[in-house]
Amino acid sequence: MRLFLALVPPPALRRRLGELAERAWTRCGGRRVPDDSLHLTLAFLGEVDEAGADELMTWVEELEVPEGEWRLDAWGCFSRPGILWVGGRTPDRALVALQASLWHELEARGFGRGPSHFVPHVTLLRRARRLETQGLPPIDLTWRHGRLALLRSFTENDGARYETLARSSTT
Ligand code: ATP
Ligand code: MG
Repeated sequence: MRLFLALVPPPALRRRLGELAERAWTRCGGRRVPDDSLHLTLAFLGEVDEAGADELMTWVEELEVPEGEWRLDAWGCFSRPGILWVGGRTPDRALVALQASLWHELEARGFGRGPSHFVPHVTLLRRARRLETQGLPPIDLTWRHGRLALLRSFTENDGARYETLARSSTT
């Protein structure tokens, strides 16, 4: 099964992000990420077998992830897959540290190696037709985050759908 670790926005923030996705879609086209699927990926694990998934679920449920506040104040894009996102003007240090510590543990558990470069972001559009952030409204949102989710991704005709397999404990 296809798994990844992510932070999921609380409902009010999710709605705000959904509004931004709608605005962005009007200008840039492509495929809008549905509100229910908006997230920040911290570690993409790819294909994992049943035993590996069980191990990950137990690990995640016991993890204590520090709470933090992420300021979302910038639009950005990754040109190759045509991704339009929101994130910080500079990568948030606490999130970068969290991503590194998660990969440190994942590597020790044999889940491969993490990416060498990590830019925390929330994807709003995929395969955008027009990849430019000029003219999009200014953003200044705060995401108070704590619990980490282990998500399973199912590929469907009109994009992926995610299911929560485990969540970290509260601190
Ligand atoms: P789709 O691939 O159908 O467009 P999706 O990208 O949302 O949908 P997945 O490909 O299963 O679904 O990806 C789940 C999450 O992991 C997404 O946040 C995605 O950006 C991220 N991801 C996917 N592949 C990689 C990868 N090779 N490296 C880093 N992150 C990845
Ligand atoms: Mg994908």
